[in-house]
Amino acid sequence: MQVGFDRSDRGYPWLSVLLDGYEIIDEGVDAAIRAAVTRGNRILACHKGCGNCCISQTDIPVYPHEVAGIYWYATEKMPQQARAVLMNQLDTLASCPFLGGQECLIHAVRPASCRVFNVFGSPCQPDEDPFYTRQFDVLIPPQQYINEAFYTVMPFYGVKDRYDRMDAMEDGLIHSKIMNLKTYNWKELFSESEVER
Ligand code: SF4
Ligand code: SF4
Repeated sequence: MQVGFDRSDRGYPWLSVLLDGYEIIDEGVDAAIRAAVTRGNRILACHKGCGNCCISQTDIPVYPHEVAGIYWYATEKMPQQARAVLMNQLDTLASCPFLGGQECLIHAVRPASCRVFNVFGSPCQPDEDPFYTRQFDVLIPPQQYINEAFYTVMPFYGVKDRYDRMDAMEDGLIHSKIMNLKTYNWKELFSESEVER
């Protein structure tokens, strides 16, 4: 599935690899869901407007290239009304700041961790963490695609050569930069940016 944006945004030379990485992950998630539905007779519970996970999950990994993508989207693409909701949300710590009502305000550039988190069977209850209540229903992340996506976004971290990228993957370069989406200081990032205007 194409993450459909103009990739020639000159102010953001890394944008293309970020979107390529997300397309690879989406492809892997689609394939994993299709396989579970076909072979395991599973029914995907996740659907638009179902956002209990965005409230109940406290530890949501996010990486610097993803933060950059969210910043780009919020400053360059987000509709004014959604920006107003976001700025309001930044003052509350109850849920993910990008959850507007029951919808993700940054759906197209949401982090890989959100993209791969899918649940079968019934939708999660408020405060339910299906990792603990019914792990069998949680989609096993398509690790091969995730690795390929991380390999693809290496130029964001200044690593372009094919062999250097493989070394950086083995050294866990990207994983060493992991942060938590819920505790990241988005307010500081967005202060004095176009988002606030
Ligand atoms: S993970 Fe659970 S709460 Fe989140 S969209 Fe899927 S079913 Fe709904
Ligand atoms: S970024 Fe979007 S999908 Fe991820 S937790 Fe926040 S609202 Fe939910």
